[in-house]
Formats: sequence, C-alpha cells, structure tokens
Amino acid sequence: MKRVDVDLPGWTGEAVHVFEDSLTGALAAIAIHQRVEGRSAGGTRMKVYSEPGHAIEDAQRLAEGMTFKWAAAGLELGGAKAAIHVPPDLGVEARRNLLERYGECVRDLEGAFSTGPDLGTSSEDMDIVAEVAPGLALGRTVDAGGAGDPAPYTALGVLEAMRVVLQFLDGEPVFADAGVIIQGVGNVGAQLAAKLQAEGAKVRVSDIDANVVDACRVMGIDSVPMEAVYETECDIFAPCATGGILRRRNISAMRCRAVAGAANTQLRDPADAERLKDRRIAYAPDFIINCGGAIAITRMELDGWDAERARAATIETVRENLTQVLEAAALSDRSPQALALELVEERIANR
Ligand code: NAD
Repeated sequence: MKRVDVDLPGWTGEAVHVFEDSLTGALAAIAIHQRVEGRSAGGTRMKVYSEPGHAIEDAQRLAEGMTFKWAAAGLELGGAKAAIHVPPDLGVEARRNLLERYGECVRDLEGAFSTGPDLGTSSEDMDIVAEVAPGLALGRTVDAGGAGDPAPYTALGVLEAMRVVLQFLDGEPVFADAGVIIQGVGNVGAQLAAKLQAEGAKVRVSDIDANVVDACRVMGIDSVPMEAVYETECDIFAPCATGGILRRRNISAMRCRAVAGAANTQLRDPADAERLKDRRIAYAPDFIINCGGAIAITRMELDGWDAERARAATIETVRENLTQVLEAAALSDRSPQALALELVEERIANR
C-alpha cells in the first residue's frame, strides 16, 4: 500500500495515516487521536463508502470516541480507529491479501497503533492482520490464542446500562414488561436481544436486512418497520447499527423514555444531547456503555485475564460510570453527555 499525505484542517488528533492500495482501489485510514505512553488502539472498520475519502473522516470521528472509551474503561491507551474503504466487488482471496497489506501498514507504525474487529471485520480477519503485525491485532479467534468476538461483552455492558437506566427511571432494575426496541441486530444487537428476552423484556427489533428480521421472528421477537423506529413507543431505544442517528428530526419523533445502545458516536451534533434532555429522554452516552468488548479483548489478550473476570469488569465499569453520570445529571441542568465527557476528560488529565 502506498502512504499518501493528506491535509486535514480542524483535526485535533495526533495523526492520520492514509494508504492507497493500487491492486484493489481500497483506501485505508488509520487515525490516531491520542497516544498514552506511545500507544493507541481502536477497531478496524471495513465497508464500501460512497466516497473513499469518507473513510478518513469516519476514522477521525471514531478515533476521538475511542480516547473517551479507553478513559471510561480505565485503560492506559489512547484512542485510534482505522477505516478501510473497499470496492463493492472485492473477492474473498483479494480481501485476504488486502488485509495482509493492511497488516504491513499497522506493523510499520511500530507499535503506535493496535487494532481489533469492528463493523465489517471479524476475529478471523484479526488473525490475518496478526500474522503480519504480531501483537498488534487483538480480538483474534480463540483458536489463535485471542479473546474471540468482542460483541458478547459489548452486549453485556449495554444490558447492564439498561438495568441502571431502569433503576433510574422506575426505582428498580427490572426488565419484566419493559419495552425495548433494538435498531440493528448484528453481532451486538442479536446478543442483546437474546439477553433481554431471557430477562423478560418486550423486545422488538428493526434492521435494514430482512433476513436478520426473519431470523428474529423465528426466535419469537417482533419487528418494527425501519421507517417507524423512532416514533414507536417504547421504554428504551437501543441504537446498535450506525452512528449519527440521534439528530434533530429523529429526536423530535422519538417516543421512548431512554436511549441506551452499542452504536458509536450516536449523537449527530453536541446540541442533540441538549435536545434529548429537553425532551426528558434519559441518554446513556455510548462511549461509557459500549466498552465491554474493548475491555475484554485488551484485558484478556494483553493482561491474561479470563472471560469471567472480563465480564465482571465490564458490568462494574458500566454500572459505576453510568450511575455517576445519570445521578449528576439528575442533580443539575446538564446533559448526561456533557457529564460523561467531563468524567473522561478528568481521568485523562489525571493520568
Ligand atoms: P454489525 O455489522 O454486526 O451489525 C449491524 C447491524 O445493523 C446489521 O445487522 C445491519 O444490517 C444493521 N443496520 C445497518 N444499518 C441499519 C439501519 N439504518 N437501520 C437498521 N439496521 C441497520 O455490527 P456490530 O458489531 O453489531 O456493531 C453495531 C454497532 O455497535 C456499530 O456501530 C459498532 O461500531 C458498535 N460497537 C460494536 C462493538 C462490538 O463489540 N461489536 C463494540 C462497540 C461498539
């Protein structure tokens, strides 16, 4: 892959490394928002962007959120993110070779950036990257010595966040009869739906992919049409698909009491946190509740923790951070988002 220089006005992070792959037409952007003791980490997203350059913007936007997420999780890592734009017709073999070349880019950053699976990449993909960049790809398969898919841990953290939200709204953390709509039932959303169903919640789902919705129906889970997802009444709305969905028009349509989901950077704009507050919708900020997978893969692969310890740490971290934020929000006129940012900025300053 050929490294290219890009001019990025307004980027407050440390560096963005952009690589063009002449063999496939792919473009990979590795955005390092911050390093702690020389190290940063964040997932690798792979998708067909409408413009290759959008991968750069996506990586930048998500890298900052990772800085907050690591601080919320109490891990000594800076935030980073990689986004790879791929052509729509990329074959299996070409994709594998591309991942190897991407692994060389990760390796050439000499330990400044470690990665893991994200939207469009898997633990198997991380095994490929790790072959070229040993020690720098986490979330590898269990067979390869990794922690496996981070999604179950992320879903566990979001479930715990919902428990905190219910305690806050109703005075008790009880799921029975609570209505939850999950937008996006992929790796995290499907795990979350199953856990909620087991807790007795009234779960409904919405997904762009009809096959996924059909599979949920087989499990006895109803669906909500995509176009009605915001205006359908529920207790908790769980964004588990893409970011930027909490925006003016959607927020004014919403008929939920709270928002708690796994998707990264859910707020389109900082003003949207105020819009949610004005509508009295309790918001559980994404970067303090979707850190379960990040905690698990780093702690299990770098610090030798077992799965049980990672699960316990996920629950405790989400519970403590979200309780602190929601309680502070209730006692002030500030949004949970503003208070969550204050929480992580304080931790970053005290490192
Ligand atoms: P995924 O790709 O497995 O699932 C996403 C699902 O959303 C798919 O089923 C897709 O069809 C659906 N979808 C896409 N656009 C949609 C739309 N407009 N409306 C409804 N459904 C739509 O991804 P995932 O791993 O489950 O992650 C979900 C979100 O959570 C992403 O934003 C990801 O960045 C974030 N996240 C994931 C993890 C993790 O451990 N996987 C950790 C932290 C954050």
